[in-house]
Amino acid sequence: MTDLNGLNANQLKELLDDLQQKYSTYQSQNLNLNMARGKPSPEQLDLSNKMFDILTSEDDLKAEDGTDIRNYGGLDGLPEAKQFFADILEVSPNEVLIGGNSSLNMMHDTVMRAMFHGVNAESEPWSKLPKVKFLCPSPGYDRHFSVCEVFNIEMIVVDMKNNGPDMDMVEKLVSEDESIKGIWCVPKYSNPDGITYSDEVVDRLAKMNTKADDFRIFWDDAYTVHHLTENPDVLKNIMVECKKAGNENRVYMFSSTSKITFAGSGIGVMATSENNLKHIKKLLSFQTIGPDKINQIRHLKFFKNHENLKKHMKKHADIIRPKFDLVLSKLDSELGSKNIAEWHNPNGGYFISLNTLDGCAKKVVTMAKEAGVTLTGAGATFPYGKDPRDRNIRIAPTFPSLSELEKAVDILCLCVQIASVEKLLEANTVEQ
Ligand code: PMP
Repeated sequence: MTDLNGLNANQLKELLDDLQQKYSTYQSQNLNLNMARGKPSPEQLDLSNKMFDILTSEDDLKAEDGTDIRNYGGLDGLPEAKQFFADILEVSPNEVLIGGNSSLNMMHDTVMRAMFHGVNAESEPWSKLPKVKFLCPSPGYDRHFSVCEVFNIEMIVVDMKNNGPDMDMVEKLVSEDESIKGIWCVPKYSNPDGITYSDEVVDRLAKMNTKADDFRIFWDDAYTVHHLTENPDVLKNIMVECKKAGNENRVYMFSSTSKITFAGSGIGVMATSENNLKHIKKLLSFQTIGPDKINQIRHLKFFKNHENLKKHMKKHADIIRPKFDLVLSKLDSELGSKNIAEWHNPNGGYFISLNTLDGCAKKVVTMAKEAGVTLTGAGATFPYGKDPRDRNIRIAPTFPSLSELEKAVDILCLCVQIASVEKLLEANTVEQ
């Protein structure tokens, strides 16, 4: 395999003809393959089916403190649920708030509370300010960016490096601009890069001076137990570091069991300082009498303890690791030494992030769609859907079967090659 950058115009044209012929063959197959959203596969969902009939006796209807789980009550969750998530997030149960079925919902509501009521009883609601801005390490999770859009929060792109966001940029911006009120972080196996923040990045986020004293880190630890290897990444505990730095109210942590048990029917959770929680619970009491305790008990009876959770996550890994391996080996064999694309090899999470040559991502996604392969929209991984270099493509390998995935990645690689050759030909013409 050769570096395509070394080919002359004639060689490129010849290669393009050949690739386009292959592409037409796929087009005529009327395929319908999808690598767009990070959904668990049916086999993964099957791992939790026991939860459906786990509540079998009268005793199962009572929580540890005697609460009848069928009735109203328990605004912040059952004590055993708080303990379970406290162990996962390495915080105190007093810092935990159990939510409904979605952590994204909790993130949205946390931003909304800050907009309408401020982050604590003393601070000014953000909606009263002329401008509110968030830092958005990118590529990132599109739905975080949508939350900002719906509240008219201006998004500032911060580059993602191999160990987390560009902290020189983050520190500079937050120290100078009082209207910057937050940052979105997916600190472990990030969506889409699969990067885990280094200890240094965590320390700097916890310690940095912010011009806004109501600045908050939205720490979306969605993939905290979603390892793909035997040597999982280790993420430093930001809550501990924030406390050490005297910034104990700075971080809101979020997670859920959406990709542990049932996506859309799991348990959402957030953790933050007791001080922050007091404010949140007061406002939450106007919104709900309490979250679904039956689902909490179902989960707790199913997992019982953290050890079982780890075993369960290994079963997920056994199902999805071959899919990641397939995509990575295809990328390597089809694009490897052609010098037209780069990608990350994640140790966990749900995605593989592919960077094409600049200006090719949109074209690749459109071409793939026309050959029957749906990918996450190009640009979706950046604020306002605008990838400044038009090069990032998020691959979600978990849902399709291995055989579907194989075909889908073949087509993706073909489209990347066609778009790259066209780009190189364009450059070639300009040079002449
Ligand atoms: N955060 C991240 C980083 C995600 O990738 C996802 C799901 N794609 C979510 C949150 C959504 O979580 P939930 O189902 O708990 O709302």
